[in-house]
Amino acid sequence: MTRVLVVEDDPQLVRALVINMQARGYGVDAAPDGATALRLAAARQPDVVVLDLGLPDMDGTDVIRALRGRPRVPILVLSARRGSAEKVAALDAGADDYVTKPFSMDELMARLRAAVRRTEESVPVAGTTRVETAGFIIDLPAKRVVRGGRDVRLTPTEWQLLEILVARPGHLVTQQHLLREVWGVSRSNRTNYLRVYMAQLRRKLEADPAHPSHLITVPGMGYRFEP
Ligand code: CA
Repeated sequence: MTRVLVVEDDPQLVRALVINMQARGYGVDAAPDGATALRLAAARQPDVVVLDLGLPDMDGTDVIRALRGRPRVPILVLSARRGSAEKVAALDAGADDYVTKPFSMDELMARLRAAVRRTEESVPVAGTTRVETAGFIIDLPAKRVVRGGRDVRLTPTEWQLLEILVARPGHLVTQQHLLREVWGVSRSNRTNYLRVYMAQLRRKLEADPAHPSHLITVPGMGYRFEP
């Protein structure tokens, strides 16, 4: 049974979540605050965490950081605010996905299934040596990309970006994370760098660069690699 830890201080929403999750066969624990969440996470070893960012005792991103010290558990964030800053902070702290309130139960359940599936499918980064898509093959140790039987020449910057994205397939990587890792900056006014380099990567790797199927833009947030 897949165990979910729901961290949410709104009792009505907790009740709705618990009923819906149990009806779909999940085992559910609920915590009304961050301290209880961390205690339950240690005691119950959940397979996935659904976390409200607005908690009474702790900042949601601090809960994420504390959970990240544990073996990999996917974290799906519930965000009430419309602005993307809070979501970006949560994703940068290590959340896997977010749902903006108010959300439909069907949407949340779909995201929950996807988060669990990604974790089950994901290969530890250290052990990943080869990434294969319908269009191209990446040999990570050799720093080599082959498309249609031919080597694709990538610049060091293009390679760095690609390497970060393919390390976590299906996972949203924020603009800030990429800027910090590749250029050592995190100012969002440099996102034009990213756009330029992602466009180059798509021209080199995608069958239809205008409609990419592997290097996906998540508007206002970042990018995602789909194998
Ligand atoms: Ca709340």
